[in-house]
Amino acid sequence: MYDVIIIGCGVTGAAVAYQLARYDLRVGIVERFSDVACGATKANSAIMHAGYDPAPGKVMTPLNLRGIRLGKEIARKLDVEYRPLQSLVIAFSERDMETVRTLYERGLANGVNVKILDREQVHAAEPSLNPDVIGALWTDDSAIINPWEYATAMAEVAVLNGAELFLEHKVTGIVRDGDALTVVTDRGEFRTRYVVNAAGCHAADIMRMVGDDRLTQTNFQGQYFVLDKAEGAKVNSVIFGCPDEKGFKGILVSPTVHGNLIVGPNSDPVASAETLGTDAATLDRIKASGLRYVPSINFRNVIRQYAGVRPTTNVKDFVIDVSPACGRMINLASMASPGLSAAAAVGERAAELLAGAGLELRPRASFSDSRPPVVRFASLDAEGRRAVIEKNPLYGRIICRCETVTEGEIVDAINRPIRPRTLDAVKRRCRAGMGRCQGGFCSPRVHEILARELGVKMEDIRLTEEDSFIITGKTKE
Ligand SMILES: Cc1cc2nc3c(=O)[nH]c(=O)nc-3n(C[C@H](O)[C@H](O)[C@H](O)COP(=O)(O)OP(=O)(O)OC[C@H]3O[C@@H](n4cnc5c(N)ncnc54)[C@H](O)[C@@H]3O)c2cc1C
Repeated sequence: MYDVIIIGCGVTGAAVAYQLARYDLRVGIVERFSDVACGATKANSAIMHAGYDPAPGKVMTPLNLRGIRLGKEIARKLDVEYRPLQSLVIAFSERDMETVRTLYERGLANGVNVKILDREQVHAAEPSLNPDVIGALWTDDSAIINPWEYATAMAEVAVLNGAELFLEHKVTGIVRDGDALTVVTDRGEFRTRYVVNAAGCHAADIMRMVGDDRLTQTNFQGQYFVLDKAEGAKVNSVIFGCPDEKGFKGILVSPTVHGNLIVGPNSDPVASAETLGTDAATLDRIKASGLRYVPSINFRNVIRQYAGVRPTTNVKDFVIDVSPACGRMINLASMASPGLSAAAAVGERAAELLAGAGLELRPRASFSDSRPPVVRFASLDAEGRRAVIEKNPLYGRIICRCETVTEGEIVDAINRPIRPRTLDAVKRRCRAGMGRCQGGFCSPRVHEILARELGVKMEDIRLTEEDSFIITGKTKE
């Protein structure tokens, strides 16, 4: 019998598992994908929002504010790629300036370090901006992060402290069973005292499994361009347009922690949470906005496009509670933006709710708040590179030439506490295949290394989910 089963291992489920790891509990995490952090956590803007946007009184507001402080601390402790970065909400008109002033007042009310910049100040702060920009909201309480590494790092600590992770287990039902619940999946059942519902875009479906039908998932997609590192240094801020009347934060231009540039997202309804394709008309709109903010962006340097679907519902706020329909289920639902920023605080809140619902939280004496170190060869100086190669010659063999990723790093990634089993999962762990050629050269080598380290045939390796096998047979027998 488990004490807690967490459904979903995006950043929210990982943050809950990370919190619960400090207590003497038997915790299981059930995730339908073949890796952690593959839902909204994989495809977002990667901004740790400062907290000027959510209105005081919303559930998300204090969680956003606490989440970014905890997130900064966790990133430092667990060596997650994270960079503090000023952000700007830019204004092209007097009407936009009114929005800027509203956000400024909200920022002050939320205790955020905000300023209003005039024309001269904003161009001094961000010289790449369109000369037509007349002012901006400024804050330096924001940051950018590697979102999937953040989630994976927290999940790794949980696993190292005893949490059991069940990948490729899709929850299909929840059965009440006396003082316990049985979580039914397509690959077996789990008896548990409590359930935490962290299923992102499917949280409303999980709620319905216990008769709680308060929420309807609304699927709002966001598409992005990723540009080569040649473009990444063009801006030194996260640049937002003014939010619209529906609360959409607007298209942004931002560097990533790896030095690329992203431009996006839109916010348009799509058929389902699984609608992850991009389309030319939407990307053209995004490109036009990006060029309006920063005219010097060279879109010939686009290396990839991606899309994510927001875990939004009919409630325009996080829904975080003990289910009124089932006192043994905690909901962490409607986790739209700033869900990444808030995640660590949501993890804490989930532990409090579980305690309130009767779960005893006794500290685990053996708890260790750490994970194995990560070698990032590309960021080492010559001395550092010599030192790691001396320890392990595999760090001397470059496999991904675009990102300077070595065989040593790929082997490390495959042997981490949560083992990646697909090419995409390896890419998320160590960036092999994330550069300008998008794996054109290194994929076959990574494929071989992955098969070798997992002790399986190359035919058994997938690119990503389900039947995305890369090699389907031999051309010559
Ligand atoms: C376009 C876009 C831009 C965003 N930008 C930002 C930003 O810059 N800053 C910010 O703070 N937030 C941002 N967000 C929001 C942020 O990404 C989300 O709030 C956060 O990732 C939610 O994490 P989650 O773990 O709740 O959901 P997810 O990451 O979606 O994880 C849910 C998990 O549950 C699993 N699951 C679902 N159903 C089942 C089932 N039946 N059985 C088993 N497992 C199941 C899924 O496979 C998934 O892995 C953005 C979101 C989008 C889409």
